[in-house]
Amino acid sequence: MERKMAERIKRLPPYLFARLDALIEEERKKGREIISLGVGDPDLPTPSYIVEEMKRRIEEESNHKYPSYVGMLEFRKAVAGWYEKRFGVQLDPENEVLTLIGSKEGIGHIPLAFVDPGDLVLIPDPGYPVYRGGTILAGGDYFTMPLKEENGFLPDLSKIPEDVRRKAKLMFINYPNNPTSGVASLEFFEEVVDFARKNEIIVCHDAAYSEITYDGYQAPSFLQIPGAKEVGVEFHSLSKTFNMTGWRIGFVVGNAQVIKALGKVKTHLDSGVFQAIQWAGIKALEKGKPEKEVIEEYRKRRDLLIEGIKKLGLSVNPPKATFYLWVKVPKRFTSEEFTLFLLKESGVVVTPGTGFGEEGEGYVRMSYTLPTQRIEEVIRRWEKIGLTL
Ligand SMILES: *Cc1c(COP(=O)(O)O)cnc(C)c1O
Repeated sequence: MERKMAERIKRLPPYLFARLDALIEEERKKGREIISLGVGDPDLPTPSYIVEEMKRRIEEESNHKYPSYVGMLEFRKAVAGWYEKRFGVQLDPENEVLTLIGSKEGIGHIPLAFVDPGDLVLIPDPGYPVYRGGTILAGGDYFTMPLKEENGFLPDLSKIPEDVRRKAKLMFINYPNNPTSGVASLEFFEEVVDFARKNEIIVCHDAAYSEITYDGYQAPSFLQIPGAKEVGVEFHSLSKTFNMTGWRIGFVVGNAQVIKALGKVKTHLDSGVFQAIQWAGIKALEKGKPEKEVIEEYRKRRDLLIEGIKKLGLSVNPPKATFYLWVKVPKRFTSEEFTLFLLKESGVVVTPGTGFGEEGEGYVRMSYTLPTQRIEEVIRRWEKIGLTL
């Protein structure tokens, strides 16, 4: 029997990588050893002090029950403490902090709290696909804000038309940025606060990569801007900072009304984060930053991969943050063609920029969440094909 799916499912963008996945499988079958720069998932383990805390807390029977919807107060206090220490921003742990099942969960659900059919959400293009998906699932429409290299991958707010401003309920921004690795200054955040206040738009800043930074760069919080708390919230994740992608814990902070509304949606959909994980998260937040060795390892990999890109005859500026290189493809290729070319010629998988939106055309994203020996192998393979590019 043919099942008729809901309209909202039909409106979700198709899975762009299906063709790529099939071709990867084809290359594998040929006996080719594939190296993937495609996925953005830290390969390094969760630090042992976090794992040890989890082991201890898992034995406690008090943690075996349903957790509270909003998260343990101890966890929310740890978040507030971290914000104060890291950004000098004060938060009320009772009303301005909400625990999430990974930040993706909160990002995907927040449109359900604020977006009705006919409303618009401003999303960056290229951008993390969940901004678009969450908007569509809530029945809303989106307006894309192009992130151009010549603007430092920041959206040009002055280009957002008046009628769009009127219909827009939410605006997603994300710095340090996935996939472009662009970073935002406090001046830009000031501009965003001003824009949001004037147009009564709720800002959702996704700061998943705030702690993955290099060469002395420190990413600011959106909430450092006076008045930011009146217009928006900031999403954070322990996933990238502490190599905890599989644990599923994150949080959102900022405007109490916005937090309350998202919390209300969540009470109808989930029942919070396993308390043992929250205790482990508290340990992570008390430490407050990634291990120095982890950042040093990423930096080494970044520089190595840039060497590899040079072998292809291409270039990219060393990014200040994230673990991605956003690389302009040679003019005679589209993003997808170049991705297929690299796969066929070198057995290396990258992500076509168009997977992140139309503005991603002309770029590919390369992730350096793999060991240096593997990146050295990528360089060897690219040395050979650079000549034919
Ligand atoms: C990885 C990522 C997230 C989500 O991470 P969680 O594991 O769900 O906390 C959110 N935003 C961006 C841009 C990401 O790359």
